[in-house]
Amino acid sequence: MSEKGKELYEEVQEQVESLKDENSIYSKFVDIWRLACIGKYRSFDLRYLYEDTSREYVEKYKSEMNEAKEEFIDNIDKYVEQCINVMEKTNKFKVYYAKTNEEAKEAFMKELGDTKVIYKSKSLEAKDAGIIDVLKENNIKIKETDLGDVLCQLFEYDHPSFTLAPGVQFTEEEIVAKIKEKHGVEVEPKAEAIVKYYRKTYRPELLNDVKISLTSANAISAHDGSIVLLENEGNISLLTRAVDKHIVVAGISKIVPDEFNAFMVAKLQERITNVDAGYISFISSPSSTSDIQGTRVFGMYGAKEVVVILVDDWRTQAAKENLFYKDMLKCISCKSCDFVCTASRAFGNIYASKYGIGGMNIVRDYIHNGIEEAVKDGLFLCTGCANCTNWCPAGVDLAEMMKQLKKIATKKGLCPPSLKKYQEKILEDKNPFK
Ligand code: SF4
Ligand code: SF4
Repeated sequence: MSEKGKELYEEVQEQVESLKDENSIYSKFVDIWRLACIGKYRSFDLRYLYEDTSREYVEKYKSEMNEAKEEFIDNIDKYVEQCINVMEKTNKFKVYYAKTNEEAKEAFMKELGDTKVIYKSKSLEAKDAGIIDVLKENNIKIKETDLGDVLCQLFEYDHPSFTLAPGVQFTEEEIVAKIKEKHGVEVEPKAEAIVKYYRKTYRPELLNDVKISLTSANAISAHDGSIVLLENEGNISLLTRAVDKHIVVAGISKIVPDEFNAFMVAKLQERITNVDAGYISFISSPSSTSDIQGTRVFGMYGAKEVVVILVDDWRTQAAKENLFYKDMLKCISCKSCDFVCTASRAFGNIYASKYGIGGMNIVRDYIHNGIEEAVKDGLFLCTGCANCTNWCPAGVDLAEMMKQLKKIATKKGLCPPSLKKYQEKILEDKNPFK
């Protein structure tokens, strides 16, 4: 094991040790996270939100969705070109095809212009592409709108958390105490009262003050260029309507052949995670009216402009060169592999990267920042149990990707000392237990 490997190992070990202290930030997260995982897993077989179970629903549609994904991957150039054409010519979107993350960052900053504040809903791709980092470096104020993210900002919580419920670790008492500390307002420690507080104080700002917003896309149709967005709070509806400019940052892997596939992806995301997603938006043009003598004028009540930044970066290369992380292109970002993950349940947000918790985000970190970062994220905490692979509705073999990452790390001398002993025994004695 190299010096670097030792250093990375000690960093991870220190975090794992901190789990013994029940007041540590990691320990607090892991307690609630384990419960959330068990609850989420069990709810999959309950008639929880609808009359069929999520398992029944997912089983019914997953092969159709996977065929659509495979079709895109096998014909990636054709569908990207088709999608850009229809978005520009028919939908009147402004489209950037960013070959690299650098190009995506440049495009975003160009569109931002002099604006110093951006309102956003979750956008994993913006994080992936480094856009969030660039905004921070340029002192652009980032205002989250999903309540969980708003709470994380309130607490200045910068540890990785669960993308679908990022503030789940804060208790009602902690939240109201923080609101009192930061805003000097007394709020009853009840979920209803906290929601009422934000509805009263933050909603008017979202309705009236947002010039530029940032969202991702759950899926994109190559056939008609529709952007599909799924949500439960209504913040995305506001960010895509009550603004001058709506910027969408999405990886090209969000493209599927047509709008019916795109809808299916969104519904499957909803069902597999059992989230109550009350709104699905199909955005196919900026706001417009033709009510005055048939002249089409853009910017009636909704967004005046829709800008789409389609990020390629590693994706076309992975598809064409059959790279070991090609399966990432099939991922629908449902995040449900985290619920069944042994390492995630045991280590919570220690097993994570800056992109979020779980193995997929460790692969992301590897793609963007290299193997040392993946090891630092806790790569070797992965048990290889393959629960993720067996569970995934999109046929993503995450366990295999983790195995490949471990091989790369081991070749670079970055595996933990305990495993190094196994390796030596295997090489010397052909028997790890001798
Ligand atoms: S790998 Fe599979 S289970 Fe995990 S987020 Fe992607 S689609 Fe969902
Ligand atoms: S193989 Fe690794 S990433 Fe997959 S579920 Fe098991 S511990 Fe988690």
